[in-house]
Amino acid sequence: MEVGFLGLGIMGKAMSMNLLKNGFKVTVWNRTLSKCNELVAHGASIGKTPAEVINKCTITIAMLSDPAAALSVVLDKDGVLEQICGGKGYIDMSTVDPETSCKINEAITSKGGRFFEAPVSGSKQPAETGQLVILAAGDKALYEAAIPAFDILGKKSFFLGQVGNGAKMKLVVNMIMGSMMNAFSEGLTLADRSGLNPHDLLDVLDLGAIANPMFKGKGPAMLQNNYSPAFPLKHQQKDKRLALALGDENSVPMPVAAASNEAFKKARSMGLGDMDFSAVFETLKVLKHSS
Ligand code: NAP
Repeated sequence: MEVGFLGLGIMGKAMSMNLLKNGFKVTVWNRTLSKCNELVAHGASIGKTPAEVINKCTITIAMLSDPAAALSVVLDKDGVLEQICGGKGYIDMSTVDPETSCKINEAITSKGGRFFEAPVSGSKQPAETGQLVILAAGDKALYEAAIPAFDILGKKSFFLGQVGNGAKMKLVVNMIMGSMMNAFSEGLTLADRSGLNPHDLLDVLDLGAIANPMFKGKGPAMLQNNYSPAFPLKHQQKDKRLALALGDENSVPMPVAAASNEAFKKARSMGLGDMDFSAVFETLKVLKHSS
């Protein structure tokens, strides 16, 4: 199977490499074209523009940072829309809001193309090992055509119905995840400041009802101030912002998510946006001990 792949950031690079290693022919494009080189060394072809990739491939996947990037790659000059047509499919796996996904769907289908969204749960390592959870919604026939690729990229795919439902599910998941990271950071800080060994807290948490892979995986690195990015903090804050907007639209009060968003905004203002989202822990370290 031949696929196009637009966006070779942390996730896109790992996902396209995984497809290549599993026998897919992949044509890649990235805004910063030099990031294509490693994929080319593993057998990928390059498209010089998103339009060129669409022209070459029947199915093209995108994995881009945010709504502005997802829209730009479709609608701007040399973009997806210039070449999409009947018989071609476009799958956006970026995390965006439902409105952005619906706009992309309208643009693609107005030219006769097929579209579905498929944001993912899972980070850099699951992307490398094909263990993502895929949250698809939109054109069911295109979804079925893409299953061979999803079988490589993910451990489970959900088809959630109409365009927008995948985006909503992803935002709900990341809203919960970010708030958990804030509570975890506060707990680690409170343990330390009150004279406990935070490593003991990690062990206690891991044996109880709130044990989870995120605390287990991120905790030891956080205690070593290691925030090597798997999920960049700026994207977690974007997801909080988009989830809060979804809460507004649906009149759902989310005081915990709102407070969590402020912590991630503070971390961004401290220059931590490109670090892992666990670097929100650093916002607590600038507090002085009370006398
Ligand atoms: P990333 O490493 O920051 O990569 C972002 C990608 O978007 C890069 O290819 C970047 O191109 C491209 N891009 C940004 N602005 C653009 C624009 N205006 N036009 C064209 N391309 C643009 O992000 P990532 O971690 O791979 O995440 C990608 C998406 O997956 C995001 O929506 C994120 O929320 C979601 N996601 C991430 C994770 C994770 O753990 N990392 C997990 C699940 C979902 P350049 O290389 O030129 O900058």
